[in-house]
Amino acid sequence: MVRLKLFAIFIVLYCFANIIVDLKLYSCVGPAVVVSDVYANKIKVARDLFIKPINFPEPKYRIKITQCYNAWASYQDNTIVISEPVIKNFSTKELAGILGHELAHIQADKQKVSVADQIDNHWKIDVMGAELTSKEVMIKKLNRMLEENDNLFKTNGFLMYYFPLSYLEHTLSRDDFMFRIKKVNDHFK
Ligand SMILES: [Zn+2]
Repeated sequence: MVRLKLFAIFIVLYCFANIIVDLKLYSCVGPAVVVSDVYANKIKVARDLFIKPINFPEPKYRIKITQCYNAWASYQDNTIVISEPVIKNFSTKELAGILGHELAHIQADKQKVSVADQIDNHWKIDVMGAELTSKEVMIKKLNRMLEENDNLFKTNGFLMYYFPLSYLEHTLSRDDFMFRIKKVNDHFK
């Protein structure tokens, strides 16, 4: 009975440890700050790469001081938040792909596509974004996101091996990016 209790405690602690490691690797928490001049210029150069104009007011841009590679659109205040690693390390083209995706989210919202539908068919947002920026830019961005996802595995494979929740997240993200690359390529065939 004591052994069973110890085993149960171990399982609970192990599940908890999995969540901690997963958060450590994939967490996007952090404060959002106003873009500095350097980054404002990078955003402008990335926006100039777009092949089509947007049919709504230009959003405000913010930088999130965090460790993950990601971006978010907030429809209520017409704002796009870009994570610091993305704005710092992505090329202008890769950043244009990120902005294309987020602007497509805002466009979809204006077209009354629900958030649930946008997430269920996330690849459609990439296709819409590719129509705005170009196929080349969107594929570049998706490949870079795939690369960053793989880098996370390369540098933390040991942790992921012992705490498989992160490994699962890595694998699901990988499959998702591969799927979205295929869908964007198919769309322009
Ligand atoms: Zn999205």
